[in-house]
Amino acid sequence: MNNFSYTKANSVDEAVSLTHANEENKIIAGGTNIIDLMKYFVTEADTLIDINPIDGIAEITELDNGGIRIGALMTNADTAYHPIIEEKYPLLSKAILAGASAQIRNMATNGGNLLQRTRCYYFYDINTPCNKRVPGSGCCAMKGYNRIHAILGHSENCIAVFPSDMCVALASLEAVVHISGTDGDRILKFSDFHRLPEDTPEIDNNLKKGEVITGIELPEKGFSKNYSYLKLRDRSSYSFALVSVATGLELENGIIKEARIALGGVSHKPWRVKEAEDFLAGKEANPENFEAVADIILEGAVGFEHNSFKINLAKKAIVRNCMMALDPASQRPGAKPSL
Ligand code: SF4
Repeated sequence: MNNFSYTKANSVDEAVSLTHANEENKIIAGGTNIIDLMKYFVTEADTLIDINPIDGIAEITELDNGGIRIGALMTNADTAYHPIIEEKYPLLSKAILAGASAQIRNMATNGGNLLQRTRCYYFYDINTPCNKRVPGSGCCAMKGYNRIHAILGHSENCIAVFPSDMCVALASLEAVVHISGTDGDRILKFSDFHRLPEDTPEIDNNLKKGEVITGIELPEKGFSKNYSYLKLRDRSSYSFALVSVATGLELENGIIKEARIALGGVSHKPWRVKEAEDFLAGKEANPENFEAVADIILEGAVGFEHNSFKINLAKKAIVRNCMMALDPASQRPGAKPSL
């Protein structure tokens, strides 16, 4: 870890100003990822800006449009267990609780969840080439051990995946990200927040210099009747997804009125295919249609030496999770899906 200064920001404006002043100044909130990155010399900071003293962005606000705004500084745990999230957005609660450990969820913030970096092994090993860490140096994962890597949206420069569970649910719920910067406030659709690696894998998202996330807005529709989050991983706790699926269905007499399906663990950002969701509209909620939609979502998927299994795994996970969404009782702790 390099030597760095530490300061506190008491307002969003102060955080923006300190962040904008020097690209090597980094924000710290829960610190559950950036401290690791600094310890491993993956990231350095001139100054760590602690935003915890900022008032008003660690809570949930109900909005006139029927939606809610979740503060960026609220912890993952407080968000998952908040009565409004449990009642109106149980898919989000379920996804958050599938991530990390209880201890980490108690520290990690919602803004930090969006900004966490990939867990590609080579990214964290400064003795290996990695285009995300050192642009132009190469990608060890491409021909190395790539079990946890991407099958969709990857480029010849990077095959890393974005590790969040929470963000998979936020993508399916069509969240909006509230951002403050030197040019004022703006909002970004969740689908536009994270980016694919293309030629610049070092850039994870579309935040501009000095911008700070202040909140996440959810629309009124939370798919609280028919939802499911399924996370498949190498061990049953404290492990990142090989494949995860967030599903929200709106049903009428067994016919799908609206479907939302997002995948995690398969790409550089949560993966959602609008045409696939449109395909399900007006169709019966049955395994045949869910298999067909899985094929549309996974069209163009390409695996590597150690992760090609993910394509078939993702297909089965989509079908299974859509079936589980028909039976919300399967989402209760300890419940077995009735498939
Ligand atoms: Fe680096 Fe991306 Fe390659 Fe991993 S997959 S080694 S993060 S360039």
